[in-house]
Amino acid sequence: METMAKIQAYCGIDCGECEAYIATRKNDRAGLEAVAADWSRRYAGSNLGADACVCDGCATGGRASAAHAASCGIRACASKRGLATCAHCPDYGCGILQQFFAFAPALKDKLEAIRREIGK
Ligand code: SF4
Ligand code: SF4
Repeated sequence: METMAKIQAYCGIDCGECEAYIATRKNDRAGLEAVAADWSRRYAGSNLGADACVCDGCATGGRASAAHAASCGIRACASKRGLATCAHCPDYGCGILQQFFAFAPALKDKLEAIRREIGK
């Protein structure tokens, strides 16, 4: 079985744990279709196809899921600034991030840990 590497996203998520990333890496069409069906169910008003879920990891410079990563404000901002993650940002704690932390508090802890590691 292939071991997925840790792929750090700008927001602290490990893309290596994402079902879309895993199905993409395995070239698993049925897996991508299952992700698309699941995300379509979870996100009201969306009707996604497998191609919209293809993703090489949000900060890798590869393909970014049209269903998710391509429209992410955090990803757009951090990549434009050339940062490894939001934890490296001089404007850490900005409004975009605060909104994100409100529904993903565990990622706040992850980014705070990265900040401690890099001495911020
Ligand atoms: S697309 Fe956005 S929310 Fe998703 S992993 Fe990347 S930075 Fe995080
Ligand atoms: S301004 Fe906010 S979203 Fe943009 S890179 Fe900095 S912390 Fe991340």
